Amino acid sequence: MAEKNDKEDICRQCGRCCCAKLILDDNEIVYLPYPCPYLDEHTRRCTVYERRHAVNPNCLTLDEGIRLGVFPADCPYVADLKGYRPPREQWTQQDLELYSEWGGEDDADGHRNTRRKF
Ligand code: SF4
Ligand code: SF4
Repeated sequence: MAEKNDKEDICRQCGRCCCAKLILDDNEIVYLPYPCPYLDEHTRRCTVYERRHAVNPNCLTLDEGIRLGVFPADCPYVADLKGYRPPREQWTQQDLELYSEWGGEDDADGHRNTRRKF
């Protein structure tokens, strides 16, 4: 997200939801230490916000992000959601290896997505 949008104006531009992440088999999400290439790491803002979904097909919409649980617990979009499960902040070596092994595409045959970049 990392930017204001026309739906709400509560993003704090922390940029944490614009880090790469894994969605594991038990639906746990893990942040990884790889910022999206379109995130300005100084301003923490998206550099392609208006066309982000065209430029980056793995960039989630706000609704998708809430449904999947990609926002940290203190993100204003989810801070008041009961039962919300935020991503794990600390990655492991195994998480990094899983990410590096991933081919970059979600399953196309009906299987649940297990890994996703952003
Ligand atoms: S985690 Fe929340 S506050 Fe931070 S950039 Fe993403 S949407 Fe904005
Ligand atoms: S394109 Fe990247 S930097 Fe921009 S909102 Fe999406 S994940 Fe964040």
